Parts: sequence; C-alpha cells; structure tokens
Amino acid sequence: MHELSLACEVVDMVETAAVRDGFRRVGQLRLEVGALAGVEVDALRFALASIVPGTCLAQARIDIDTPPGTAWCIPCAAEVPITGYQDTCPGCDGPLTRHAGGDQLRLVDLLVHDD
Ligand SMILES: [Zn+2]
Repeated sequence: MHELSLACEVVDMVETAAVRDGFRRVGQLRLEVGALAGVEVDALRFALASIVPGTCLAQARIDIDTPPGTAWCIPCAAEVPITGYQDTCPGCDGPLTRHAGGDQLRLVDLLVHDD
C-alpha cells in the first residue's frame, strides 16, 4: 500500500531527526500533502496511526494539510490553481506546461519534547 510506505518514510524522517536533534517525543506533527500528490489523506492518517506506537510519534497529534495544486501559465505570467494535470489556464484557457506545486509531501512542522 502506497500510503503505508509513505507513512514509514515520515516516521523514518522524524526518528532520524530525533536522533540528530536529541529529542525523544513529538507533541505535534504537521504534514503537507499536496492535492496532486496522489495520496489518500485518510489512508495516510490510518497508516500513520498503525505504525507510530513505540516510536517517538506515539503521543503526537498529527495534522495533515492539503494545499491545492498549482501550475504556471507562461502567457499570463501567473501561477494558477488546478485540480488535475489536464487542466487548462482559467485566465487564457491555454495549456499549462509547467507544474508549480501541489504534489509534495512535506514535513512542515514538528513540536518536540525532550523529556
Ligand atoms: Zn493563462
């Protein structure tokens, strides 16, 4: 399952940071999963909940933001919102070749306790 491997990556990332920065416990974790990332947020949440026991994330509150997809329109010189890769520019109806954002999975914020 795609979301389970993503959840493992997130936990790995946090555990690596815990070793590096010397914290033991995470109070809150904020993730950003772009609307175009192809990730089922509920499934990711479920996968995280199933693997965090025993890790420094065991007590953490996990927030997941889902920023919309965006693309860059060259004629309009503007970044426009999109809901899928086939969308055209809402300003000029032209093709959007350069995809600007919304497909990321990012660790945005981590609130840690070192007791
Ligand atoms: Zn345009």
